[in-house]
Amino acid sequence: PVALRSACVLVTGATAGIGKATATMYAKSATKDEPVSLIVTGRRANLLDELCADLKSFPHVKHAVPLAVDVSDKEKMFAAIEGLPEEVKNIDVLVNNAGLALGTAPIHEGNMDDWEMMVDVNCKGLLYATKAVLPGMVERGDGHIINIGSVAGNYNLPGGNVYCATKAFVNHLSTSMRADLIGKGVRVTSIEPGNTETEFSIVRFKGNAEAAKKVYEASSGPRVACTGEDIAKIIYFATDELPKHVNINNLEVMPERQGFGPFAFNRE
Ligand code: NDP
Repeated sequence: PVALRSACVLVTGATAGIGKATATMYAKSATKDEPVSLIVTGRRANLLDELCADLKSFPHVKHAVPLAVDVSDKEKMFAAIEGLPEEVKNIDVLVNNAGLALGTAPIHEGNMDDWEMMVDVNCKGLLYATKAVLPGMVERGDGHIINIGSVAGNYNLPGGNVYCATKAFVNHLSTSMRADLIGKGVRVTSIEPGNTETEFSIVRFKGNAEAAKKVYEASSGPRVACTGEDIAKIIYFATDELPKHVNINNLEVMPERQGFGPFAFNRE
Protein backbone atom coordinates (compact mmCIF):
# COMPACT_ATOMS: atom_id res chain seq x y z
CA PRO A 1 0.00 0.00 0.00
CA VAL A 2 1.14 3.53 -0.77
CA ALA A 3 1.33 5.86 2.23
CA LEU A 4 -1.16 8.67 2.48
CA ARG A 5 0.58 12.01 2.31
CA SER A 6 1.32 13.70 5.63
CA ALA A 7 -1.39 16.19 6.58
CA CYS A 8 0.51 18.16 9.23
CA VAL A 9 4.27 18.66 9.34
CA LEU A 10 6.39 20.56 11.87
CA VAL A 11 9.89 21.58 10.78
CA THR A 12 12.28 23.06 13.34
CA GLY A 13 14.90 25.49 12.04
CA ALA A 14 12.96 26.42 8.92
CA THR A 15 14.27 29.97 8.44
CA ALA A 16 17.16 28.74 6.26
CA GLY A 17 18.88 25.83 4.56
CA ILE A 18 17.59 22.29 4.87
CA GLY A 19 14.60 23.23 7.05
CA LYS A 20 13.31 25.90 4.70
CA ALA A 21 13.74 23.59 1.69
CA THR A 22 11.92 20.82 3.55
CA ALA A 23 8.89 22.95 4.44
CA THR A 24 8.76 24.07 0.80
CA MET A 25 9.03 20.47 -0.44
CA TYR A 26 5.91 19.44 1.53
CA ALA A 27 4.09 22.58 0.35
CA LYS A 28 4.75 21.96 -3.32
CA SER A 29 4.00 18.24 -3.10
CA ALA A 30 0.56 18.68 -1.52
CA THR A 31 -2.45 17.95 -3.70
CA LYS A 32 -6.10 18.94 -3.74
CA ASP A 33 -7.11 15.64 -2.16
CA GLU A 34 -4.17 15.56 0.23
CA PRO A 35 -3.42 19.12 1.38
CA VAL A 36 -0.78 19.88 3.98
CA SER A 37 -0.53 22.13 7.03
CA LEU A 38 2.93 23.32 8.00
CA ILE A 39 4.30 24.57 11.29
CA VAL A 40 7.71 26.19 10.97
CA THR A 41 10.06 27.24 13.75
CA GLY A 42 13.23 29.26 14.19
CA ARG A 43 14.40 32.30 16.13
CA ARG A 44 14.18 34.84 13.28
CA ALA A 45 10.50 35.82 13.31
CA ASN A 46 10.71 38.01 10.18
CA LEU A 47 12.07 35.13 8.10
CA LEU A 48 9.36 32.81 9.42
CA ASP A 49 6.70 35.32 8.36
CA GLU A 50 8.24 35.55 4.88
CA LEU A 51 8.40 31.77 4.64
CA CYS A 52 4.77 31.37 5.72
CA ALA A 53 3.67 33.87 3.08
CA ASP A 54 5.56 31.79 0.48
CA LEU A 55 4.13 28.52 1.76
CA LYS A 56 0.59 29.88 1.64
CA SER A 57 1.09 30.76 -2.03
CA PHE A 58 1.09 27.03 -2.87
CA PRO A 59 -2.47 26.02 -3.75
CA HIS A 60 -2.77 23.01 -1.43
CA VAL A 61 -1.29 24.41 1.78
CA LYS A 62 -4.10 24.62 4.33
CA HIS A 63 -2.25 26.34 7.17
CA ALA A 64 1.26 27.77 7.54
CA VAL A 65 1.96 28.58 11.18
CA PRO A 66 5.11 30.40 12.31
CA LEU A 67 6.50 29.54 15.75
CA ALA A 68 9.27 32.01 16.57
CA VAL A 69 10.95 30.22 19.41
CA ASP A 70 14.41 29.11 20.48
CA VAL A 71 14.31 25.32 20.39
CA SER A 72 16.65 25.16 23.39
CA ASP A 73 14.26 27.17 25.60
CA LYS A 74 12.38 24.32 27.24
CA GLU A 75 9.44 26.27 28.69
CA LYS A 76 8.87 28.37 25.58
CA MET A 77 9.18 25.36 23.29
CA PHE A 78 6.53 23.39 25.20
CA ALA A 79 4.27 26.44 25.49
CA ALA A 80 4.55 27.10 21.74
CA ILE A 81 3.61 23.55 20.79
CA GLU A 82 0.86 23.26 23.40
CA GLY A 83 -0.55 26.60 22.19
CA LEU A 84 -0.91 25.46 18.57
CA PRO A 85 -4.39 25.96 17.13
CA GLU A 86 -6.63 22.88 17.20
CA GLU A 87 -6.50 22.38 13.42
CA VAL A 88 -2.71 21.79 13.47
CA LYS A 89 -2.42 19.93 16.77
CA ASN A 90 -2.18 16.44 15.29
CA ILE A 91 1.34 16.49 13.90
CA ASP A 92 2.12 13.63 11.48
CA VAL A 93 5.76 14.47 10.82
CA LEU A 94 8.27 16.20 13.07
CA VAL A 95 11.48 17.19 11.32
CA ASN A 96 14.04 17.81 14.05
CA ASN A 97 16.33 19.94 11.94
CA ALA A 98 17.31 23.03 14.01
CA GLY A 99 20.99 22.78 14.76
CA LEU A 100 24.37 24.36 14.35
CA ALA A 101 28.13 24.02 14.52
CA LEU A 102 30.13 26.80 16.15
CA GLY A 103 33.86 27.28 15.65
CA THR A 104 36.71 25.13 14.38
CA ALA A 105 39.06 25.17 17.39
CA PRO A 106 40.74 21.95 18.52
CA ILE A 107 39.25 20.53 21.69
CA HIS A 108 41.91 21.94 24.05
CA GLU A 109 41.29 25.46 22.73
CA GLY A 110 37.52 25.17 22.46
CA ASN A 111 35.10 27.84 23.57
CA MET A 112 32.82 26.64 26.37
CA ASP A 113 29.94 28.92 25.36
CA ASP A 114 30.04 27.41 21.86
CA TRP A 115 30.07 23.89 23.32
CA GLU A 116 27.09 24.61 25.56
CA MET A 117 25.10 26.15 22.75
CA MET A 118 25.70 23.17 20.45
CA VAL A 119 24.65 20.74 23.18
CA ASP A 120 21.63 22.90 24.09
CA VAL A 121 20.34 23.21 20.53
CA ASN A 122 21.47 20.01 18.78
CA CYS A 123 20.78 17.59 21.66
CA LYS A 124 18.51 19.17 24.26
CA GLY A 125 16.43 21.20 21.82
CA LEU A 126 15.81 18.09 19.73
CA LEU A 127 14.68 16.24 22.86
CA TYR A 128 12.29 19.05 23.86
CA ALA A 129 10.61 19.13 20.44
CA THR A 130 10.37 15.34 20.49
CA LYS A 131 8.89 15.21 23.99
CA ALA A 132 6.33 17.87 23.06
CA VAL A 133 5.17 16.07 19.90
CA LEU A 134 5.84 12.33 20.20
CA PRO A 135 3.30 11.37 22.92
CA GLY A 136 0.47 12.52 20.61
CA MET A 137 1.86 10.40 17.78
CA VAL A 138 2.02 7.33 20.03
CA GLU A 139 -1.52 7.97 21.23
CA ARG A 140 -2.78 8.19 17.65
CA GLY A 141 -0.62 5.24 16.57
CA ASP A 142 0.74 7.22 13.64
CA GLY A 143 3.65 9.54 13.00
CA HIS A 144 7.19 9.98 11.74
CA ILE A 145 10.14 11.67 13.40
CA ILE A 146 12.99 12.73 11.16
CA ASN A 147 16.16 13.61 13.05
CA ILE A 148 18.79 15.50 11.12
CA GLY A 149 22.06 14.00 12.27
CA SER A 150 25.24 14.28 10.24
CA VAL A 151 28.11 12.35 8.73
CA ALA A 152 30.05 14.29 11.39
CA GLY A 153 28.39 11.98 13.91
CA ASN A 154 29.89 8.93 12.18
CA TYR A 155 33.36 10.19 11.20
CA ASN A 156 35.58 12.60 13.09
CA LEU A 157 36.93 15.74 11.56
CA PRO A 158 39.66 17.89 13.11
CA GLY A 159 38.06 20.86 14.89
CA GLY A 160 34.68 19.12 14.81
CA ASN A 161 34.93 17.62 18.33
CA VAL A 162 31.80 18.76 20.21
CA TYR A 163 29.72 19.21 17.06
CA CYS A 164 30.64 15.65 15.98
CA ALA A 165 29.65 14.39 19.42
CA THR A 166 26.26 16.15 19.35
CA LYS A 167 25.54 14.60 15.96
CA ALA A 168 26.63 11.14 17.15
CA PHE A 169 24.03 11.69 19.88
CA VAL A 170 21.37 12.44 17.26
CA ASN A 171 22.30 9.53 14.99
CA HIS A 172 22.25 7.10 17.88
CA LEU A 173 19.18 8.52 19.62
CA SER A 174 17.19 7.79 16.48
CA THR A 175 17.81 4.05 16.58
CA SER A 176 17.31 4.07 20.36
CA MET A 177 13.92 5.70 19.79
CA ARG A 178 13.12 2.94 17.31
CA ALA A 179 13.83 0.38 20.01
CA ASP A 180 11.12 1.93 22.19
CA LEU A 181 8.60 2.65 19.46
CA ILE A 182 8.51 -0.67 17.65
CA GLY A 183 4.93 -1.57 16.78
CA LYS A 184 3.49 1.80 17.83
CA GLY A 185 2.99 3.08 14.28
CA VAL A 186 5.62 5.78 14.70
CA ARG A 187 8.59 5.73 12.34
CA VAL A 188 11.96 7.28 13.20
CA THR A 189 14.62 8.15 10.65
CA SER A 190 18.04 9.67 11.09
CA ILE A 191 19.11 11.55 7.97
CA GLU A 192 22.85 12.13 8.09
CA PRO A 193 23.97 14.67 5.48
CA GLY A 194 27.48 15.45 4.34
CA ASN A 195 28.53 18.80 2.91
CA THR A 196 25.37 20.78 2.16
CA GLU A 197 25.31 24.39 1.02
CA THR A 198 23.22 26.39 3.49
CA GLU A 199 23.90 29.09 6.09
CA PHE A 200 25.62 26.38 8.16
CA SER A 201 29.21 27.52 7.45
CA ILE A 202 28.39 31.21 7.89
CA VAL A 203 27.13 30.32 11.36
CA ARG A 204 30.09 28.01 12.06
CA PHE A 205 32.61 30.69 11.00
CA LYS A 206 30.67 33.34 12.93
CA GLY A 207 29.71 35.53 10.00
CA ASN A 208 32.89 35.12 7.89
CA ALA A 209 31.08 34.78 4.55
CA GLU A 210 34.34 34.53 2.58
CA ALA A 211 35.55 31.47 4.52
CA ALA A 212 32.06 29.97 4.41
CA LYS A 213 31.87 30.28 0.61
CA LYS A 214 35.07 28.27 0.19
CA VAL A 215 33.46 25.20 1.80
CA TYR A 216 31.12 24.90 -1.18
CA GLU A 217 33.50 25.97 -3.98
CA ALA A 218 35.21 23.90 -6.66
CA SER A 219 37.57 25.25 -9.33
CA SER A 220 35.76 23.19 -11.98
CA GLY A 221 33.18 20.50 -12.50
CA PRO A 222 30.02 19.60 -10.61
CA ARG A 223 28.99 20.85 -7.17
CA VAL A 224 30.94 19.72 -4.10
CA ALA A 225 27.95 20.19 -1.87
CA CYS A 226 24.39 18.92 -1.74
CA THR A 227 21.65 21.53 -1.64
CA GLY A 228 18.95 21.90 0.98
CA GLU A 229 16.51 20.73 -1.70
CA ASP A 230 18.48 17.49 -2.21
CA ILE A 231 18.11 16.66 1.48
CA ALA A 232 14.45 17.77 1.49
CA LYS A 233 13.68 15.28 -1.30
CA ILE A 234 15.17 12.47 0.77
CA ILE A 235 13.15 13.48 3.83
CA TYR A 236 9.97 13.59 1.77
CA PHE A 237 10.76 10.21 0.23
CA ALA A 238 11.18 8.65 3.68
CA THR A 239 7.92 10.05 5.07
CA ASP A 240 5.53 10.31 2.14
CA GLU A 241 6.69 8.10 -0.70
CA LEU A 242 7.52 4.92 1.15
CA PRO A 243 4.61 2.91 2.49
CA LYS A 244 4.06 3.23 6.22
CA HIS A 245 5.31 -0.24 7.03
CA VAL A 246 8.79 0.74 5.77
CA ASN A 247 11.18 2.57 8.10
CA ILE A 248 14.55 3.95 7.00
CA ASN A 249 16.64 3.83 10.17
CA ASN A 250 19.77 5.78 9.24
CA LEU A 251 20.49 7.32 5.89
CA GLU A 252 23.88 8.86 5.17
CA VAL A 253 24.16 11.13 2.16
CA MET A 254 27.08 13.05 0.65
CA PRO A 255 27.79 14.88 -2.58
CA GLU A 256 29.52 12.52 -5.00
CA ARG A 257 32.64 14.70 -4.73
CA GLN A 258 33.00 14.22 -0.95
CA GLY A 259 34.83 11.20 0.51
CA PHE A 260 36.74 9.92 3.51
CA GLY A 261 40.21 10.87 4.70
CA PRO A 262 42.96 8.38 5.53
CA PHE A 263 44.06 7.83 9.16
CA ALA A 264 46.22 10.67 10.45
CA PHE A 265 49.74 10.13 11.88
CA ASN A 266 52.13 12.46 13.63
CA ARG A 267 55.67 11.43 12.68
CA GLU A 268 57.53 14.46 13.97
P1 NDP B 1 21.34 26.64 8.42
O1 NDP B 1 22.26 27.45 9.28
O2 NDP B 1 21.09 27.10 7.02
O3 NDP B 1 19.94 26.44 9.16
C1 NDP B 1 19.85 26.14 10.52
C2 NDP B 1 18.45 26.37 11.02
O4 NDP B 1 18.41 26.04 12.42
C3 NDP B 1 18.02 27.81 10.89
O5 NDP B 1 16.69 27.85 10.44
C4 NDP B 1 18.11 28.34 12.30
O6 NDP B 1 17.10 29.31 12.53
C5 NDP B 1 17.81 27.10 13.11
N1 NDP B 1 18.31 27.21 14.48
C6 NDP B 1 19.58 27.32 14.89
N2 NDP B 1 19.62 27.48 16.21
C7 NDP B 1 18.33 27.49 16.64
C8 NDP B 1 17.71 27.63 17.91
N3 NDP B 1 18.42 27.82 19.04
N4 NDP B 1 16.37 27.59 17.98
C9 NDP B 1 15.63 27.42 16.86
N5 NDP B 1 16.16 27.28 15.65
C10 NDP B 1 17.49 27.31 15.54
O7 NDP B 1 21.98 25.17 8.42
P2 NDP B 1 21.50 23.78 7.78
O8 NDP B 1 20.23 23.91 7.06
O9 NDP B 1 22.67 23.21 7.08
O10 NDP B 1 21.29 22.94 9.13
C11 NDP B 1 20.15 22.16 9.39
C12 NDP B 1 20.59 20.91 10.14
O11 NDP B 1 21.39 20.13 9.27
C13 NDP B 1 21.42 21.17 11.38
O12 NDP B 1 20.99 20.30 12.40
C14 NDP B 1 22.82 20.82 10.95
O13 NDP B 1 23.63 20.40 12.01
C15 NDP B 1 22.54 19.70 9.98
N6 NDP B 1 23.59 19.38 9.01
C16 NDP B 1 24.04 20.30 8.12
C17 NDP B 1 25.05 19.98 7.23
C18 NDP B 1 25.59 20.97 6.25
O14 NDP B 1 26.65 20.71 5.65
N7 NDP B 1 24.93 22.09 6.01
C19 NDP B 1 25.63 18.64 7.20
C20 NDP B 1 25.07 17.74 8.17
C21 NDP B 1 24.09 18.11 9.02
P3 NDP B 1 17.28 30.69 13.33
O15 NDP B 1 18.70 31.15 13.11
O16 NDP B 1 16.27 31.59 12.72
O17 NDP B 1 16.98 30.36 14.74
